[in-house]
Amino acid sequence: MKAVRLMEVGQPLALEVLPLPEPGPEDVLVRVAAAGICHSDAHYRAGLSKTSSLPMTLGHEIAGVAEEIGANVKHIAKGARVCVHYMDTCGHCACCFAGHEQFCESGRMIGKHRDGGYAEFARIPARSLFVLPEEIPFVQGAIMMCSSATSLHALRKARLQAGESVAIFGFGGLGFSAAQLAQTLGAGDVFAVDIQPGKLRLAAQFGAIPIDPGQGDPVEQIQAATRGRGADVALELIGHPATMDAAVRCLARLGRAALVGLSNASFAVAPYQNVINKEAEIIGVSDHLASEIPLLLALARAGKLQFPSSVIRTIPLDASLVNQSLDGLQTATDIIRTVIEPWN
Ligand SMILES: [Zn+2]
Ligand SMILES: [Zn+2]
Repeated sequence: MKAVRLMEVGQPLALEVLPLPEPGPEDVLVRVAAAGICHSDAHYRAGLSKTSSLPMTLGHEIAGVAEEIGANVKHIAKGARVCVHYMDTCGHCACCFAGHEQFCESGRMIGKHRDGGYAEFARIPARSLFVLPEEIPFVQGAIMMCSSATSLHALRKARLQAGESVAIFGFGGLGFSAAQLAQTLGAGDVFAVDIQPGKLRLAAQFGAIPIDPGQGDPVEQIQAATRGRGADVALELIGHPATMDAAVRCLARLGRAALVGLSNASFAVAPYQNVINKEAEIIGVSDHLASEIPLLLALARAGKLQFPSSVIRTIPLDASLVNQSLDGLQTATDIIRTVIEPWN
């Protein structure tokens, strides 16, 4: 089978022809129908974040068809449409039992610690597979498994209540999902902060109030739009100290800022004005939980989470096109995700 793999850090991904993986008793061989290209993959290629070994088939946003079923697998049938929760977890350590399986002691991320979906087939632990309802196209199913799932986890970590306002910093794949999910969960005003006009137009189409930092301090704009109250929940989805700072500063009293975007840089917090005096909270968000996937699938199935084809670009399993997409992630304008379709 063909796979597009990271062979060496800092180098373009390359096409390799590999033997078909053999599923173990707890695995399913998935014929990959769609694999999303994520910012994390660009970080692995650049070495900002490390895969556990090389070469590695990247790709953790996967949907496809169950092709071959391991002997002990009961919940997935051959031929089922499936999507992949990207954490491969043990299910019996203290973290797994406590429902924080993203910290599983032997947890491995698919597409980082074991081969992922930039391939015609992927061997996936059955525990990570969910049936993908017919109503949800493969491409959408793939994307949802990272950006939408993490957005939902962030909104849950931030304990969004009906009627509360939400400020979303960064309107990419995560923000696009977060805006729709927040409204579905009953949010009041949803503000979308982004510097790209195309993204702001898209935010408005999906019911969010666009905030353009080019028109002035986004915190002041959010304060003005909420009559000085501030946002009840802020999601920082970019991973930049300036937007982390803004996410904290824009909070209302008792507000919660959920930090999702990755950064090694620090940002300063004025403890009295911005945290203590408001009893505000700054919350870290890491990945998402398998237990959140059924809700996410139900919402998408009901049409509450949509990815129109205009915001998605699909490409074949071609190393140079995959590399170009990874190169373009920082500059992409109206495209929310590029997705590989290995069989198209
Ligand atoms: Zn991802
Ligand atoms: Zn575990």
